[in-house]
Amino acid sequence: MSASLQKQPILFLSHGSPMTALGGDELNETWARLAGRLARPTAILVVSAHWTTRLPIVTGSAKPETIHDFGGFPAELYALQYPAPGDPALAQRIKQRLTEAGIATGIDAQRGLDHGAWVPLRSLFPAADIPVLQLSVQPERCARHHYAVGAALASFASENILIVATGHLTHNLMDYMRGLGQPSTASRAFRDWVHARLMRNEAESLFDWEQEAPGAKAAHPTPEHFLPLFVALGAAGAEHATEWLGGGWVGETLAADNYLFIPRGV
Ligand code: ZN
Repeated sequence: MSASLQKQPILFLSHGSPMTALGGDELNETWARLAGRLARPTAILVVSAHWTTRLPIVTGSAKPETIHDFGGFPAELYALQYPAPGDPALAQRIKQRLTEAGIATGIDAQRGLDHGAWVPLRSLFPAADIPVLQLSVQPERCARHHYAVGAALASFASENILIVATGHLTHNLMDYMRGLGQPSTASRAFRDWVHARLMRNEAESLFDWEQEAPGAKAAHPTPEHFLPLFVALGAAGAEHATEWLGGGWVGETLAADNYLFIPRGV
């Protein structure tokens, strides 16, 4: 049993398929174990792969709706709700913090919570009584941009705000649809390359992942599920401890590793 945490860590979660919301798979067990260790945060900021924009945008709704941003799944998935409140005042502070860091940003007062946020949050905080905000990802921008966004928001962790980045360590949906039955060689090589660097706390060695990592294009034909990791690393800071929370392969093809980062001094 791993130790409980007195302060808020930074999380990177591989969020699985929407079906993970129905419970009973390895990811649910990983998140339930994690939930038992977390201190109750004042608010949660989720950086989800499923909200992509040109600039980093923060949700400003006081009552964010549950977005069912997927098609072709069982009806019971569309009935699921995660009725957590928002926090418009915190959205303004996040916007201000990013602006002070020289990062152009904005607030979307209409946007709700997508499944990249509410699938893991239903396991982590099932009562849905803690305010949740989302921050978008910029697929046209590089790892360094996302790291800078995370660095600008790092101090919120010491204000008891939980920063959760959610995507996938690998995310080749063609492999997933084809049902390969095992991870592709490229996805496995990419996953191992990233995992080794994360466990050595070498965040900067990941920045040029698209050029340097084996199997990068096969593991992430588009980058939006990998980029949230860099927001988490930026928020964790140059010196942090890393803990691997669990992994496995969703649909036997998508690497589903989860990580916890503890900023120095926490
Ligand atoms: Zn996803």
